[in-house]
Amino acid sequence: MPDDVTTKTKSYGFSTRMSHAGRAGTHVHGFVNPPVHRGSTVLFPNCEARRDGAKHRFEQYMTYGTQGGPTHYALEDVIAEIEGGTRCLILGTGLAAVAVPLMAWLKAGDHCLMPDSAYGPARTLCDGLLKGWGIETTYYDPCVDEAGMAALIRPNTKVVYTESPGSHTFEIQDIPAIARAAHARGAKVMMDNTWGIHHFRPFEKGVDVSIQALTKYVGGHSDVLLGSVTVNNEEDWKTLRVAGSQLGQYASPDDCWLALRGVRTMAVRLKHQERSGLEVARWLSGRPEVLRVLHPALPEHPQHALWKRDFSGACSLFGVVFQPQYALQDLYRFIDSLALFGIGASWGGYESLAIATTGNITRTAGTGEFGGPMCRIHVGLEEPADLIADLGQALARLAG
Ligand SMILES: *Cc1c(COP(=O)(O)O)cnc(C)c1O
Repeated sequence: MPDDVTTKTKSYGFSTRMSHAGRAGTHVHGFVNPPVHRGSTVLFPNCEARRDGAKHRFEQYMTYGTQGGPTHYALEDVIAEIEGGTRCLILGTGLAAVAVPLMAWLKAGDHCLMPDSAYGPARTLCDGLLKGWGIETTYYDPCVDEAGMAALIRPNTKVVYTESPGSHTFEIQDIPAIARAAHARGAKVMMDNTWGIHHFRPFEKGVDVSIQALTKYVGGHSDVLLGSVTVNNEEDWKTLRVAGSQLGQYASPDDCWLALRGVRTMAVRLKHQERSGLEVARWLSGRPEVLRVLHPALPEHPQHALWKRDFSGACSLFGVVFQPQYALQDLYRFIDSLALFGIGASWGGYESLAIATTGNITRTAGTGEFGGPMCRIHVGLEEPADLIADLGQALARLAG
């Protein structure tokens, strides 16, 4: 088998590409996986060579470990492959992968458009440091159409940020329409693609900068924090790389190795969790205590048609809205009664989770109200029948 079988061939299926992308070839004593390369110092044979910089991959100037090493490069290649972009930067957390591109493309006097349903800490950054630096943010209805987006863009709008589906409330955005409006007015389109993973192909839909929290399904085992930013041309790569370097951003190669290990089984996990998640979501949507389930792959989801048009699948994270007669304390009792669902943030691991959404989210363009108390469910790798039985006994305790 040639060293670089991979991945150049886009006709291979996702599972095939995840089995072959970013491997070590036969260079490392024949071992299949790239080793963990730890390193701060990079040595040169002589002073002139150091002055001229190491000619490492992409002919980039490289003198020090903060620029990443072979373990980072392997993971960068895999994530660029998943996202369908040309280059990827690995960062220490998903939130760093949100923060670095915002800081890279925004400066004092600029305006940023954020969906009302953006990941909470992204919102905190915009209202915190970015605001202090003279960058103004407007929160927009995630379900905005092309004309609506065009009307929101000002001469100084440099970034139109998107996240689809939205955190906790699962609105699907019309990314191609938003991107057309943004590009016609010279703004960059960024997207948090953590939910979509490989089911949404950002660069085919007009996104310029795609963000993923690798902490979620890529890691897959709730034991690693990492983020990625992927771009699709050289100019954007330079802007991103320079910002990452100036901010001293770096990810541990051990964590990159864990993410590479996670990626090998991700296709199987995702397929299984998509199926289990839908089974649980459908069961919940048929229960009398439940007003509605916020899962884009269910036909009753308000943007189901957009999801069907733009996504090739779903993950296993969704929202549940209970009937309005239940109070927050009832919701808490329901969640506290679950035996198989951990009460905790993050998601994408092998284990199921449930957290209360009501009281936990900020919305200013909309209300964030869906008619009753809400929770967010992540379905792990447990048997769906066991999860459903557990939800059933907890629902019996909902009414007190
Ligand atoms: C978890 C998450 C992040 C941040 O990832 P961390 O690695 O936990 O910092 C960003 N965006 C979304 C949509 C997330 O769910």
